[in-house]
Amino acid sequence: MGEKVIPLADHRYAASVPRIPERPAAPSGHVADRLGRPLRDLRISVTDRCNFRCGYCMPKEVFDKQYHFLPHGSLLSFEEITRAARLFVAHGVRKLRLTGGEPLLRKDLERLVAMLAALRCPDGSALDLTLTTNGSLLARKARALKDAGLQRVTVSLDALDDTIFRRMNDVDFPVADVLEGIAEARRCGFGTIKVNMVVKRGSNDHEIVPMARFFREQFDGSVVLRFIEYMDVGATNGWRMDEVLPSADVVARIAQSFPLEPLEANAPGETAQRWRYRDGGGEIGVISSVTRAFCRDCNRARLSTEGKLFTCLFASHGHDLRALLRGGHDDAQIAAAIGALWAGRGDRYSELRGAMQADAGSGQRRVEMHYIGG
Ligand code: SF4
Repeated sequence: MGEKVIPLADHRYAASVPRIPERPAAPSGHVADRLGRPLRDLRISVTDRCNFRCGYCMPKEVFDKQYHFLPHGSLLSFEEITRAARLFVAHGVRKLRLTGGEPLLRKDLERLVAMLAALRCPDGSALDLTLTTNGSLLARKARALKDAGLQRVTVSLDALDDTIFRRMNDVDFPVADVLEGIAEARRCGFGTIKVNMVVKRGSNDHEIVPMARFFREQFDGSVVLRFIEYMDVGATNGWRMDEVLPSADVVARIAQSFPLEPLEANAPGETAQRWRYRDGGGEIGVISSVTRAFCRDCNRARLSTEGKLFTCLFASHGHDLRALLRGGHDDAQIAAAIGALWAGRGDRYSELRGAMQADAGSGQRRVEMHYIGG
Protein backbone atom coordinates (compact mmCIF):
# COMPACT_ATOMS: atom_id res chain seq x y z
CA MET A 1 0.00 0.00 0.00
CA GLY A 2 1.58 3.43 -1.08
CA GLU A 3 2.01 6.39 1.31
CA LYS A 4 -1.18 7.83 2.86
CA VAL A 5 -3.02 10.01 0.33
CA ILE A 6 -4.96 12.85 1.91
CA PRO A 7 -8.21 13.29 -0.10
CA LEU A 8 -9.59 16.72 -0.83
CA ALA A 9 -11.26 17.22 2.56
CA ASP A 10 -13.59 19.91 1.26
CA HIS A 11 -14.20 18.29 -2.10
CA ARG A 12 -12.64 21.00 -4.13
CA TYR A 13 -12.60 18.72 -7.14
CA ALA A 14 -11.98 20.99 -10.06
CA ALA A 15 -15.34 22.07 -11.47
CA SER A 16 -16.45 24.93 -13.65
CA VAL A 17 -19.91 26.44 -14.07
CA PRO A 18 -21.20 25.30 -17.49
CA ARG A 19 -21.69 27.88 -20.21
CA ILE A 20 -25.27 28.50 -21.36
CA PRO A 21 -25.16 28.25 -25.18
CA GLU A 22 -27.49 30.45 -27.22
CA ARG A 23 -28.83 27.57 -29.26
CA PRO A 24 -29.37 24.03 -27.93
CA ALA A 25 -26.79 21.47 -29.16
CA ALA A 26 -29.46 19.33 -30.84
CA PRO A 27 -32.98 20.54 -31.56
CA SER A 28 -34.43 17.09 -30.82
CA GLY A 29 -32.59 17.07 -27.53
CA HIS A 30 -30.99 13.74 -28.41
CA VAL A 31 -27.34 14.71 -28.21
CA ALA A 32 -24.23 12.69 -29.14
CA ASP A 33 -20.69 13.32 -27.94
CA ARG A 34 -17.56 13.81 -30.06
CA LEU A 35 -17.31 10.02 -30.55
CA GLY A 36 -20.95 9.77 -31.57
CA ARG A 37 -22.02 8.25 -28.26
CA PRO A 38 -25.58 9.11 -27.14
CA LEU A 39 -26.46 10.07 -23.55
CA ARG A 40 -28.50 7.16 -22.22
CA ASP A 41 -27.53 6.43 -18.64
CA LEU A 42 -27.39 8.86 -15.71
CA ARG A 43 -25.83 7.74 -12.43
CA ILE A 44 -26.93 9.89 -9.52
CA SER A 45 -24.91 9.86 -6.30
CA VAL A 46 -27.26 10.75 -3.44
CA THR A 47 -24.63 10.69 -0.66
CA ASP A 48 -20.83 10.62 -0.36
CA ARG A 49 -21.09 8.66 2.89
CA CYS A 50 -20.84 4.92 3.34
CA ASN A 51 -20.97 2.54 6.27
CA PHE A 52 -18.32 0.30 4.68
CA ARG A 53 -14.62 1.03 4.09
CA CYS A 54 -13.79 -1.17 1.12
CA GLY A 55 -10.09 -0.69 0.40
CA TYR A 56 -10.54 -0.27 -3.37
CA CYS A 57 -12.99 2.61 -2.88
CA MET A 58 -12.84 4.20 0.60
CA PRO A 59 -9.73 2.94 2.41
CA LYS A 60 -10.24 3.37 6.16
CA GLU A 61 -6.85 4.95 6.73
CA VAL A 62 -7.87 7.76 4.35
CA PHE A 63 -11.58 8.09 5.02
CA ASP A 64 -11.16 8.10 8.79
CA LYS A 65 -12.90 9.91 11.63
CA GLN A 66 -11.27 13.21 10.67
CA TYR A 67 -12.64 13.06 7.13
CA HIS A 68 -15.05 15.87 6.26
CA PHE A 69 -18.05 14.50 4.39
CA LEU A 70 -20.30 16.91 2.53
CA PRO A 71 -22.56 19.06 4.72
CA HIS A 72 -26.26 18.36 4.08
CA GLY A 73 -26.90 21.84 2.75
CA SER A 74 -24.52 21.28 -0.14
CA LEU A 75 -26.32 18.11 -1.30
CA LEU A 76 -28.80 18.38 -4.11
CA SER A 77 -32.33 18.18 -2.73
CA PHE A 78 -34.72 15.54 -4.06
CA GLU A 79 -36.50 18.27 -6.01
CA GLU A 80 -33.22 19.42 -7.61
CA ILE A 81 -32.23 15.83 -8.46
CA THR A 82 -35.62 15.20 -10.05
CA ARG A 83 -35.45 18.44 -12.06
CA ALA A 84 -31.95 17.60 -13.28
CA ALA A 85 -33.01 14.02 -14.16
CA ARG A 86 -35.98 15.36 -16.16
CA LEU A 87 -33.63 17.56 -18.20
CA PHE A 88 -31.29 14.62 -18.86
CA VAL A 89 -34.26 12.52 -20.00
CA ALA A 90 -35.01 15.21 -22.58
CA HIS A 91 -31.50 14.58 -23.94
CA GLY A 92 -32.06 10.84 -24.34
CA VAL A 93 -31.41 9.36 -20.88
CA ARG A 94 -33.50 6.21 -20.41
CA LYS A 95 -31.82 4.72 -17.36
CA LEU A 96 -31.36 6.28 -13.92
CA ARG A 97 -29.11 4.56 -11.39
CA LEU A 98 -29.03 5.74 -7.76
CA THR A 99 -25.62 5.34 -6.17
CA GLY A 100 -23.44 6.83 -3.43
CA GLY A 101 -21.40 6.20 -1.23
CA GLU A 102 -24.14 3.97 0.12
CA PRO A 103 -27.46 5.38 -1.20
CA LEU A 104 -29.62 3.70 1.45
CA LEU A 105 -27.97 5.94 4.03
CA ARG A 106 -29.79 8.95 2.50
CA LYS A 107 -32.86 9.65 4.61
CA ASP A 108 -36.31 9.06 3.01
CA LEU A 109 -34.72 7.78 -0.20
CA GLU A 110 -38.01 6.14 -1.18
CA ARG A 111 -39.47 9.65 -1.57
CA LEU A 112 -36.86 10.41 -4.23
CA VAL A 113 -37.51 7.03 -5.85
CA ALA A 114 -41.22 7.88 -6.12
CA MET A 115 -40.40 11.28 -7.68
CA LEU A 116 -38.06 9.74 -10.25
CA ALA A 117 -40.44 6.84 -10.96
CA ALA A 118 -43.06 9.40 -11.98
CA LEU A 119 -40.82 10.77 -14.74
CA ARG A 120 -41.62 9.60 -18.27
CA CYS A 121 -39.67 9.31 -21.51
CA PRO A 122 -40.88 11.57 -24.33
CA ASP A 123 -42.88 8.59 -25.71
CA GLY A 124 -44.64 8.20 -22.37
CA SER A 125 -42.82 5.02 -21.39
CA ALA A 126 -41.28 4.53 -17.95
CA LEU A 127 -37.60 4.99 -17.29
CA ASP A 128 -35.37 2.13 -16.18
CA LEU A 129 -34.92 3.05 -12.48
CA THR A 130 -32.32 1.06 -10.57
CA LEU A 131 -30.00 1.36 -7.57
CA THR A 132 -26.60 0.04 -6.48
CA THR A 133 -26.18 -0.75 -2.78
CA ASN A 134 -23.78 -2.61 -0.50
CA GLY A 135 -26.85 -4.47 0.76
CA SER A 136 -26.26 -3.66 4.44
CA LEU A 137 -29.69 -1.97 4.81
CA LEU A 138 -31.54 -3.72 1.98
CA ALA A 139 -33.43 -6.23 4.09
CA ARG A 140 -35.06 -3.31 5.93
CA LYS A 141 -35.64 -1.02 2.94
CA ALA A 142 -36.45 -3.33 0.00
CA ARG A 143 -40.22 -3.26 0.41
CA ALA A 144 -40.50 0.54 0.67
CA LEU A 145 -38.19 1.02 -2.34
CA LYS A 146 -40.16 -1.45 -4.44
CA ASP A 147 -43.47 0.15 -3.47
CA ALA A 148 -42.05 3.57 -4.37
CA GLY A 149 -41.31 2.39 -7.91
CA LEU A 150 -37.75 1.10 -7.93
CA GLN A 151 -37.54 -1.57 -10.62
CA ARG A 152 -34.16 -3.24 -10.19
CA VAL A 153 -31.37 -3.47 -7.65
CA THR A 154 -27.66 -4.27 -7.84
CA VAL A 155 -25.89 -5.43 -4.68
CA SER A 156 -22.11 -5.25 -4.18
CA LEU A 157 -20.79 -8.42 -2.52
CA ASP A 158 -17.07 -9.21 -2.64
CA ALA A 159 -16.99 -12.56 -0.87
CA LEU A 160 -19.15 -15.34 0.53
CA ASP A 161 -16.70 -16.34 3.23
CA ASP A 162 -17.60 -14.25 6.28
CA THR A 163 -13.99 -13.64 7.37
CA ILE A 164 -12.93 -12.46 3.93
CA PHE A 165 -16.07 -10.34 3.51
CA ARG A 166 -15.54 -8.63 6.88
CA ARG A 167 -11.91 -7.96 5.94
CA MET A 168 -12.87 -6.47 2.58
CA ASN A 169 -15.60 -4.15 3.93
CA ASP A 170 -13.19 -3.34 6.77
CA VAL A 171 -16.00 -2.58 9.24
CA ASP A 172 -16.53 -6.18 10.35
CA PHE A 173 -19.98 -6.33 8.67
CA PRO A 174 -21.42 -9.87 8.45
CA VAL A 175 -22.09 -11.41 5.03
CA ALA A 176 -25.32 -12.99 6.30
CA ASP A 177 -27.03 -9.61 6.53
CA VAL A 178 -26.24 -8.79 2.90
CA LEU A 179 -27.46 -12.22 1.76
CA GLU A 180 -30.66 -11.62 3.72
CA GLY A 181 -31.03 -8.30 1.88
CA ILE A 182 -30.73 -10.06 -1.48
CA ALA A 183 -33.29 -12.69 -0.42
CA GLU A 184 -35.69 -9.97 0.75
CA ALA A 185 -35.28 -8.08 -2.54
CA ARG A 186 -36.26 -11.24 -4.34
CA ARG A 187 -39.26 -11.77 -2.05
CA CYS A 188 -40.33 -8.19 -2.85
CA GLY A 189 -40.41 -9.11 -6.53
CA PHE A 190 -37.61 -6.96 -7.93
CA GLY A 191 -36.73 -7.71 -11.56
CA THR A 192 -33.37 -9.31 -12.20
CA ILE A 193 -31.15 -8.82 -9.18
CA LYS A 194 -27.49 -8.30 -10.00
CA VAL A 195 -24.65 -9.00 -7.59
CA ASN A 196 -21.33 -7.27 -8.28
CA MET A 197 -18.06 -8.70 -6.99
CA VAL A 198 -14.88 -6.63 -7.33
CA VAL A 199 -12.10 -9.19 -7.83
CA LYS A 200 -8.72 -8.28 -6.33
CA ARG A 201 -5.98 -10.82 -6.98
CA GLY A 202 -4.61 -12.16 -3.71
CA SER A 203 -7.55 -10.79 -1.69
CA ASN A 204 -10.73 -12.56 -2.79
CA ASP A 205 -10.09 -14.22 -6.17
CA HIS A 206 -10.37 -17.66 -4.57
CA GLU A 207 -13.99 -16.78 -3.81
CA ILE A 208 -14.95 -16.61 -7.50
CA VAL A 209 -16.07 -20.22 -7.92
CA PRO A 210 -17.73 -20.50 -4.47
CA MET A 211 -19.74 -17.33 -5.29
CA ALA A 212 -20.76 -18.75 -8.68
CA ARG A 213 -21.78 -22.06 -7.10
CA PHE A 214 -23.73 -20.35 -4.30
CA PHE A 215 -25.83 -18.10 -6.54
CA ARG A 216 -26.49 -20.95 -8.98
CA GLU A 217 -27.73 -23.19 -6.18
CA GLN A 218 -29.40 -20.76 -3.75
CA PHE A 219 -31.02 -18.37 -6.22
CA ASP A 220 -31.70 -20.78 -9.12
CA GLY A 221 -30.51 -18.37 -11.78
CA SER A 222 -32.61 -15.36 -10.63
CA VAL A 223 -29.47 -13.50 -9.62
CA VAL A 224 -26.89 -12.40 -12.21
CA LEU A 225 -23.42 -12.46 -10.69
CA ARG A 226 -20.95 -10.01 -12.23
CA PHE A 227 -17.21 -9.91 -11.68
CA ILE A 228 -15.57 -6.49 -11.88
CA GLU A 229 -11.87 -6.04 -12.59
CA TYR A 230 -10.15 -4.03 -9.84
CA MET A 231 -9.82 -0.48 -11.16
CA ASP A 232 -7.55 2.51 -10.58
CA VAL A 233 -10.44 4.76 -9.62
CA GLY A 234 -9.74 7.91 -7.64
CA ALA A 235 -6.37 8.53 -6.02
CA THR A 236 -6.56 6.75 -2.68
CA ASN A 237 -6.75 2.97 -3.24
CA GLY A 238 -3.05 2.36 -4.05
CA TRP A 239 -4.01 0.47 -7.22
CA ARG A 240 -1.46 -1.88 -8.77
CA MET A 241 -1.81 -3.77 -12.07
CA ASP A 242 -0.50 -7.00 -10.51
CA GLU A 243 -3.56 -7.07 -8.25
CA VAL A 244 -5.88 -7.12 -11.27
CA LEU A 245 -7.21 -10.55 -12.24
CA PRO A 246 -8.21 -10.30 -15.91
CA SER A 247 -11.83 -11.22 -16.64
CA ALA A 248 -10.62 -13.90 -19.07
CA ASP A 249 -9.10 -15.71 -16.05
CA VAL A 250 -12.35 -15.33 -14.12
CA VAL A 251 -14.35 -16.91 -16.94
CA ALA A 252 -11.78 -19.70 -17.33
CA ARG A 253 -11.93 -20.55 -13.62
CA ILE A 254 -15.73 -20.74 -13.57
CA ALA A 255 -15.90 -22.69 -16.84
CA GLN A 256 -13.75 -25.43 -15.30
CA SER A 257 -16.61 -26.17 -12.89
CA PHE A 258 -19.59 -24.86 -14.86
CA PRO A 259 -19.24 -24.72 -18.68
CA LEU A 260 -20.16 -21.35 -20.14
CA GLU A 261 -21.07 -19.87 -23.50
CA PRO A 262 -21.08 -16.18 -24.53
CA LEU A 263 -24.27 -14.14 -24.80
CA GLU A 264 -25.06 -10.98 -26.77
CA ALA A 265 -25.20 -7.66 -24.91
CA ASN A 266 -28.66 -6.64 -23.69
CA ALA A 267 -28.22 -3.11 -25.05
CA PRO A 268 -25.51 -0.86 -26.59
CA GLY A 269 -23.25 0.56 -23.90
CA GLU A 270 -23.77 -2.38 -21.54
CA THR A 271 -20.62 -2.60 -19.42
CA ALA A 272 -20.73 -6.35 -18.79
CA GLN A 273 -19.82 -9.14 -21.19
CA ARG A 274 -22.48 -11.77 -20.61
CA TRP A 275 -21.96 -15.54 -20.32
CA ARG A 276 -24.61 -18.23 -19.73
CA TYR A 277 -24.20 -21.57 -18.03
CA ARG A 278 -24.51 -24.28 -20.66
CA ASP A 279 -26.73 -26.30 -18.32
CA GLY A 280 -29.26 -23.46 -18.09
CA GLY A 281 -28.18 -22.53 -14.58
CA GLY A 282 -28.40 -18.81 -15.31
CA GLU A 283 -25.83 -16.24 -16.40
CA ILE A 284 -22.84 -14.30 -15.18
CA GLY A 285 -21.15 -11.12 -16.39
CA VAL A 286 -17.63 -9.73 -16.38
CA ILE A 287 -16.81 -6.00 -16.39
CA SER A 288 -13.33 -5.54 -17.80
CA SER A 289 -12.44 -1.84 -17.63
CA VAL A 290 -8.71 -2.66 -17.39
CA THR A 291 -8.16 -5.49 -19.88
CA ARG A 292 -11.03 -4.92 -22.33
CA ALA A 293 -12.02 -1.26 -22.28
CA PHE A 294 -15.60 -0.47 -23.30
CA CYS A 295 -15.33 3.29 -23.79
CA ARG A 296 -16.32 2.97 -27.45
CA ASP A 297 -20.00 2.96 -26.62
CA CYS A 298 -19.97 4.46 -23.14
CA ASN A 299 -23.20 6.43 -22.79
CA ARG A 300 -22.94 7.19 -19.04
CA ALA A 301 -22.92 10.48 -17.20
CA ARG A 302 -22.50 10.87 -13.45
CA LEU A 303 -24.03 13.46 -11.17
CA SER A 304 -22.21 13.89 -7.86
CA THR A 305 -23.95 14.30 -4.55
CA GLU A 306 -23.61 18.07 -4.70
CA GLY A 307 -24.59 18.44 -8.35
CA LYS A 308 -21.31 18.25 -10.28
CA LEU A 309 -21.57 16.48 -13.62
CA PHE A 310 -18.72 14.11 -14.52
CA THR A 311 -18.59 12.58 -17.99
CA CYS A 312 -16.23 9.73 -17.04
CA LEU A 313 -15.62 7.58 -13.94
CA PHE A 314 -11.96 8.54 -14.15
CA ALA A 315 -12.58 12.24 -14.71
CA SER A 316 -10.63 14.83 -12.77
CA HIS A 317 -12.84 17.77 -13.71
CA GLY A 318 -16.55 18.27 -13.13
CA HIS A 319 -19.21 20.75 -14.25
CA ASP A 320 -21.18 22.53 -11.56
CA LEU A 321 -24.83 22.00 -12.48
CA ARG A 322 -25.93 22.97 -8.97
CA ALA A 323 -24.83 26.54 -9.70
CA LEU A 324 -27.29 26.56 -12.61
CA LEU A 325 -30.06 24.79 -10.68
CA ARG A 326 -29.76 27.31 -7.85
CA GLY A 327 -28.77 30.25 -10.07
CA GLY A 328 -32.19 31.17 -11.44
CA HIS A 329 -31.68 29.59 -14.84
CA ASP A 330 -34.73 28.12 -16.57
CA ASP A 331 -35.04 24.54 -17.81
CA ALA A 332 -34.25 25.41 -21.41
CA GLN A 333 -31.01 27.12 -20.41
CA ILE A 334 -29.88 24.26 -18.16
CA ALA A 335 -30.88 21.68 -20.77
CA ALA A 336 -28.87 23.58 -23.37
CA ALA A 337 -25.86 23.62 -21.05
CA ILE A 338 -26.12 19.86 -20.45
CA GLY A 339 -26.42 19.25 -24.21
CA ALA A 340 -23.36 21.36 -24.94
CA LEU A 341 -21.35 19.60 -22.25
CA TRP A 342 -22.16 16.18 -23.63
CA ALA A 343 -21.59 17.25 -27.24
CA GLY A 344 -18.09 18.33 -26.23
CA ARG A 345 -17.28 15.06 -24.46
CA GLY A 346 -14.42 12.89 -25.68
CA ASP A 347 -13.63 10.75 -22.62
CA ARG A 348 -12.11 7.29 -23.09
CA TYR A 349 -9.84 6.86 -20.11
CA SER A 350 -9.81 3.05 -20.07
CA GLU A 351 -8.72 2.93 -23.69
CA LEU A 352 -5.92 5.37 -22.95
CA ARG A 353 -5.15 4.16 -19.43
CA GLY A 354 -1.47 3.55 -20.08
CA ALA A 355 -0.91 6.99 -21.60
CA MET A 356 -3.17 8.69 -19.01
CA GLN A 357 -1.21 7.15 -16.13
CA ALA A 358 2.03 8.29 -17.73
CA ASP A 359 0.47 11.75 -17.62
CA ALA A 360 -0.52 11.30 -13.96
CA GLY A 361 2.13 13.93 -13.13
CA SER A 362 -0.28 16.55 -14.52
CA GLY A 363 -1.61 16.99 -10.99
CA GLN A 364 -5.08 16.32 -12.27
CA ARG A 365 -6.38 13.94 -9.60
CA ARG A 366 -9.17 11.59 -10.51
CA VAL A 367 -12.44 11.95 -8.69
CA GLU A 368 -13.11 9.44 -5.90
CA MET A 369 -15.70 6.73 -6.60
CA HIS A 370 -17.61 7.24 -3.32
CA TYR A 371 -18.33 10.78 -4.54
CA ILE A 372 -19.81 9.92 -7.97
CA GLY A 373 -20.82 6.29 -7.62
CA GLY A 374 -19.19 3.44 -9.59
S1 SF4 B 1 -13.38 4.98 -18.69
FE1 SF4 B 1 -14.79 6.69 -18.84
S2 SF4 B 1 -15.34 6.77 -20.99
FE2 SF4 B 1 -14.45 4.76 -20.63
S3 SF4 B 1 -16.17 3.42 -20.17
FE3 SF4 B 1 -15.42 4.19 -18.21
S4 SF4 B 1 -16.64 6.01 -17.79
FE4 SF4 B 1 -16.87 5.52 -19.96
